[in-house]
Amino acid sequence: MDGNLNVVHQNNVQFDSELPEFRTQGGVHLHADRLTVSSPVLMWVKALDLLLDKMKRAGLDFSRVRALSGSGQQHGSVYWRRGASETLKQLDPDQNLYQLLQGSFSVSDSPVWMDSSSRQQCQDLQAAAGGALRLAEITGSRAYERFTGNQIAKVRQTRPEDYQDAERISLVSSFAASLFLGDYAAIDYSDGSGMNLLDIRTRNWSEICLEATSPHLDRLLGAPVPSESVLGPVSSYFVRRYGFCESCRVVAFTGDNPASLAGMRLHVCVCMCVCSFKNGSLTRERIRNECAGASWENFSAALRDTPLGNNGNMGFYFDSMEITPPAVGVHRFDPDDNELSSLSPQVEVRALVEGQFLSRRLHAERLGYSIIPGTRVLATGGASSNKEILQVLSDVFNAPVYTIDLSNSACLGSAYRALHGLAAESGVSFCDVVKKAPDPQLVATPHPTAQEVYGRMLKRYARLEERVLQETRPRSMAATTDQL
Ligand code: ADP
Repeated sequence: MDGNLNVVHQNNVQFDSELPEFRTQGGVHLHADRLTVSSPVLMWVKALDLLLDKMKRAGLDFSRVRALSGSGQQHGSVYWRRGASETLKQLDPDQNLYQLLQGSFSVSDSPVWMDSSSRQQCQDLQAAAGGALRLAEITGSRAYERFTGNQIAKVRQTRPEDYQDAERISLVSSFAASLFLGDYAAIDYSDGSGMNLLDIRTRNWSEICLEATSPHLDRLLGAPVPSESVLGPVSSYFVRRYGFCESCRVVAFTGDNPASLAGMRLHVCVCMCVCSFKNGSLTRERIRNECAGASWENFSAALRDTPLGNNGNMGFYFDSMEITPPAVGVHRFDPDDNELSSLSPQVEVRALVEGQFLSRRLHAERLGYSIIPGTRVLATGGASSNKEILQVLSDVFNAPVYTIDLSNSACLGSAYRALHGLAAESGVSFCDVVKKAPDPQLVATPHPTAQEVYGRMLKRYARLEERVLQETRPRSMAATTDQL
């Protein structure tokens, strides 16, 4: 992005198709227990090599980059092996990072946000903190399986040798920043607050949580820093290999959710409340492949050709254990609440999309959001380029939907944050930095009958969700603390 907030270059690497040797699906390894989910850390390293090579080949002049920042999927953790810090400081620009960092990680497959295998560790943490509510008072959240502290506790207990061999633990975001910095990068406050470890009032690691997770863990984590911190200049590796300027600054990286908010220019202007769902884009892709001939165009046509409310057919599509609610499996219902084993392809597409958005609305309302006149929905992510999906979103929420031009708000937000890092040195606020950015555009308004159709449907959805949850409960992590 240039100084006028214009995007000058975009590029990407698809893990599954461009790095097939790592055998991921949707960028992850789903383990046999259906709870453990991980990504090979060297795949991320190799992806960065590939991405920078592509950018160079496309003619990007790295010497003009004054600052860089980035984001990583929240909660995931990277375990640097003893000696890796020295390796990072002396990277040979004639070799790629993948070659150079082969031996630098004590855990080769990093736990990621989709993991829900640390139930025991969550229970232990809550017990140590004095209950779920007390833990939420300290860290902002009750214990979640995917949150980094619980994942770290699991690694420590189940792989003690690998854990002992680690000299530093990064989040995915601070890991990526470390590569650019040539040194261990600090964790920023925003991403740090998704770990069940940070005291959100003192903005330092909570003693109680550290003690319960792993004694002296603070030494492995380093001190957290404000999100707009300049961490230092880019490592000489990038100067010599790609032609970055020696004074190019690395601004703290953050999680994909806070970066996305920054991309929507909501950085410091709102109090952030996150409700997470696992079965989103990837589940839509599966249904697209099975019911719409693997084409988004056909998927959209199915939404156009089916009525609001889907004639009473409804579905829950939890390919992997969902976060909100903690349920798994596919459950379809006819208008009389009878469970069905299949739906026609077009009806299935609408059942999926309506179900996903009914769930978003139900759980947003349970968190205290209310849909009132003037409510706007801001959509981002890959699917926000799909008008038909956004129409269903608008109808279900009975509110207008807005998007920004670029569907990748996490990347855009990272570029804004890099600029803010530069400007913050002279006291300029984030809101001032993004003043010139274009406003989100209106892309869908609700159908006149939407309120009536989905008002009723939402109540039914809540009832059926409870039924689905009852069916899952014996297999799921107990939901005793879900109400938080
Ligand atoms: P996410 O939106 O899940 O955070 P990305 O922002 O990386 O992920 O966007 C990639 C996703 O966008 C893909 O997984 C794909 O499912 C979805 N996508 C891309 N184009 C379309 C489209 N036209 N309609 C619906 N979904 C789309």
